[in-house]
Formats: sequence, structure tokens, C-alpha cells
Amino acid sequence: MTDRTMTVPPASPEQQAVLRDLFEETVAQAPVAISITDSQANILYVNQNFAEVTGYAPEECIGRNESMLSDQRTPKAVYQALWQTIQARQTWQGTLVNRHKSGRRYLAHVSISPILDAQGHTSHYIGMHRDVTDVYTLEQQVKNQKVLIESVVDLMPMATVLIDEQDKVVLDNQMYKTLISDLGQQEPSQLFLPVLREALGEEWPRLQSKGHGFQEALVIPLRGGFRNREVRIDRGGYLAPRWYACSGSWFSHSDGQVDNFFQGARHTYLLLTLNDITQQKRQEEAQRINAMRALLAEEEKCQSVREALLGAIHHIEAPLNLLTAAKNLAVRRDPEQQNSAFVELLQQILDAGAASVAHLKACIPPSCGASATSVNINQLIHETIVLLTERLLASGVVVDWRPTPVLPSLMGAEQRLRSVFKHLIENAVEAMNHSGIRRRELRIVTWSDNELVHIAIEDSGPGIADNLRVKVFEPFFSTRTDGGHGHTGMGLTMAQDVINQHQGLIRIDPTYRDGCRVLIQLPIHQEFNDRG
Ligand code: FAD
Repeated sequence: MTDRTMTVPPASPEQQAVLRDLFEETVAQAPVAISITDSQANILYVNQNFAEVTGYAPEECIGRNESMLSDQRTPKAVYQALWQTIQARQTWQGTLVNRHKSGRRYLAHVSISPILDAQGHTSHYIGMHRDVTDVYTLEQQVKNQKVLIESVVDLMPMATVLIDEQDKVVLDNQMYKTLISDLGQQEPSQLFLPVLREALGEEWPRLQSKGHGFQEALVIPLRGGFRNREVRIDRGGYLAPRWYACSGSWFSHSDGQVDNFFQGARHTYLLLTLNDITQQKRQEEAQRINAMRALLAEEEKCQSVREALLGAIHHIEAPLNLLTAAKNLAVRRDPEQQNSAFVELLQQILDAGAASVAHLKACIPPSCGASATSVNINQLIHETIVLLTERLLASGVVVDWRPTPVLPSLMGAEQRLRSVFKHLIENAVEAMNHSGIRRRELRIVTWSDNELVHIAIEDSGPGIADNLRVKVFEPFFSTRTDGGHGHTGMGLTMAQDVINQHQGLIRIDPTYRDGCRVLIQLPIHQEFNDRG
């Protein structure tokens, strides 16, 4: 093994003289105010920068005490701590208020160290200080600005939140905090962000990445963003839905980490504002519900005419089918025995019947609302409940409305879907009314996954027998034996038809035993197909 110990050859007297000169020159020209004092803080030496920082030339301060720099604004306790530290032969560092020769006050960041003699006693002190007034002023300005910005953000009349790239909340205001309790302690950003991402689609990452590339500025506001995207939050129970106009702007910010000093790593933040427009939306909704009421009344009239005509056609077609069978029987008989006049008569009756059926079919009013629009199922159900409020109250039905707070929209025939929900709720109310059951509860739940919106409508009525679960969807089938007015047994057939047009599924839950539970699934990404 080789000996790695470094041996430094002793410096010659010439080298020592050069080194001393170098050291003196370094201290004299150091860019920090340096002073050397005796043990009582009387100044013995100052360098060039000392004169620049304090305003005193060496001849003006040598022989005087360092206290000549004191502005008397520094608390006595600070000096006591300073002296206690240096007298204990330790270095003291801190900030003092100094007075410049001109009378101007400045903040000095001071470091004082004792110089010990051969016996270990303090013979001198060496002081170094810098004027840190500008840094301090800047720090205070930044702090004040931060407080100012936070106060302004706090006073903003809309919920405002700053979100980082990991969807974590970095800053929020008072209104946003109120929103947390309004939405049942749920982090509002977690509700809004997925909906906004879905609504903006490919625009989201494009807007988010805008503005990268500028490295100098600390904060870069990005162009773009989005304005007034409406999001509906359903809170369920008796709580009305709330509406928010959401606006967002992205900006990029340098994180100020030492590691990224040269790389200039930046982070993108989203400033999201959520403006509560519920009041305005409620007024619009009230107007819409009134218009809808009139439309539904009209549609109901058309529906009963449609059902009456379909019923009549059904009743005419049944004997016609028998007559067709009778005619076929007569024709198949031996030609000698065939009564051609009778067959002829049967044919005439069949032709007349077919003409009547064709005439009745032509009279069936077309079903309305075939055009597909973007539909929010929560909204449709909520509106339907509002429409039926009087009826529900009159029947003593307690409605337990449990929507998932945010449901994706789907393309569908709004009016037809609303008729389906109205019919299913009316069915449930009727079932509970007629069964004489005291507990009358209607629970409507919505939820969604990536593909489907799910709806469950449960009532506490008598339920539907296992053998009838499929039959109830057949035309003209009714479990009502009292021949109730207006019951043609076409409602569920029509409901199934509408759900099929939306490529969805409707069924009675066989596992539900506390009444009847109708389950509906509607695909989110399927196109509405009007076969009606
Ligand atoms: P004083 O009444 O003189 O002292 C205030 C308190 O300081 C006293 O109550 C006492 O507890 C303590 N004290 C003062 N002198 C001594 C002493 N000799 N021994 C023990 N305790 C003592 N001060 C500044 O304001 N600005 C500077 O830039 C600065 N630089 C200094 C650099 C060096 C190298 C040293 C050694 C001291 C420095 N001081 C500086 C401290 C300065 O010497 C004074 O203590 C301070 O300015 C307070 O002076 P005063 O006249 O306001 O109060």
C-alpha cells in the first residue's frame, strides 16, 4: 500500500511574506464590511467595503467603539445576547439596525467572532457585516403582496382555488371553504375537475401545456383557459341542486428550488373559480318546468289517444285473426264441399277489418320529442319529481332522492326519457296507494361508471310477482284487476321502447323484496336511435 499522507513543506520566509501580503489584500478588498476591534469593541482596523457600507472613512472610525454604528433602535436584549455569545468565545450572527454616516438607517446582517491569543483569551474581535436593507425590503414586499393577494382572493365573491398538477389544492379562499361544508365535506375540486376534464376533452391538456418554454419570468399567465362552463351538483334528499359557472386559467410558475436553478423547472397551476349561479338557474328551471307541464299535458293527451287507438286496433285484430283462421280452414276444405259464398263473405269482412285497422293506425298521433340532445339524467329526474310534487304529497309518499353528485351527460330524447321517469314514478305511487301500505317510500338513486348511467327506482309497495316480472313489459298487460281508469297496460311497453331506443336496458330487480325496484341502464357514449 502506498502512503497517501500529504506532507506540506514549510513555507520559506519569502513565501510567508507573499502569503501575508495576499491575505491582507484579500481582507482589504473583500466585498463585505470587515472590522477588527480590541476586546472592548474599539475599532483597530476596517477594510474598504466598511467605508462603503457605513459611510465612514478609516480615519473617522479607528479608535472609536463599534457602538458608533448603533441606531439605538436595536433592543438592548439583542446586544446582551450578542455580548454573552462572543464573551463565551462563540460566533454571534444576527441583524442589527445601524446608522450610516449620512444618518440613513440600514439593516446590517452582522457576524462577530472572537480572536483568541496563545493563552486562549479573547484578544480581539473580527466583525463582518452586510447591508441587507434591500433584501429585507424585498422580502417584506413579497410577504405584504402575499397577504394582499390572499386577502383579495379571500374577499372574492366566488369560490376560488389554486390546484397543482397532482390535483392538490394549494390555495383556497373563504367561499371555497364554505363550499366544502355545503357539499357535505367533500373536496369540491374532486367533484368539479373530472366533469370539466370530460367536458373539455382534448382541449384540457392543450390549454394546460400552453406557455411552457418561457424560462425567465417567475410567473407566466397562460393564454386560453375556459370561461363559464356550467356544472350541476346534485346533493340529493330535499336539497335542491346547485349550479356553478366554472372558469379556469392555467399559469406556469418557477418552483425556486436550488436543484432547478439552472434547469429552470416550472410547474403549471390551475386557478379555478366557481361562481354560484343557482339562483338564476332556479328561475330558468321554474320557467322550464311550467313550459314542460303544458307540454306533458299535451303529450299525455296524445298518449291516451295513442293508447286508446292501439287498444282498439288490438281488439279488432284479435277477432280478425280468428276470422283469418276460419277462412283458411274453409279454403283448405275439399273444393266440392267448399262454400265459396261463405269464403267470399269472410274475405270481405277481413278486407273491411284490415281497412279499419289501417285507418286507425293512420290516426295514431306521432310521439313527440324524437330529437336527441345532451341530457343530464339527474336533471330530468329532479324535474320530474318537482312536476309530481303535488301528487306525491297528496299520496303521503316520502321521496328519498339520492343522485350521484355529478353525472355524465348522454345523448338522448329528453322529452321521451322524462315521460319514462314520470310513468315509473306514477306506477310506484299507484302501487303504494292501492296496496294500502302505510309506509310509502320512493327511493330514486343514480350512479355511473365509465360506460353506463344507472338509475334505480324503488317503492315500498307490494312488488311484482316473479312470474310477472317479464310479462309487465308486454303490451296491454296490467296487474290491475280493478280496471282502473286510464290503465291500458301500455306504459311499461312504451318505457321499454324508449330505453331500447337509447340502447339501454330496463328490468325489474328479482332480488329486491321490500317492494318493487326498477333498474335502468343507459349507455353514456351510445347514439340515440329513433325507431319510434
Ligand atoms: P451600550 O449601552 O453600550 O451596550 C448595550 C449592552 O451591550 C450592554 O447592556 C451590555 O450588556 C452590552 N455590552 C456593550 N459593550 C460591552 C462590553 N464591552 N462588554 C460586555 N457587554 C457589553 N453594534 C451595532 O449596533 N452595530 C454594529 O455593526 C456592531 N458591530 C460590532 C462589531 C464588533 C466586532 C463588536 C465586538 C461589537 C459590535 N457591535 C455593534 C456592538 C457594539 O459594540 C455595542 O455593544 C452596541 O452597539 C450597543 O452599544 P450602545 O452604546 O447602544 O449600548
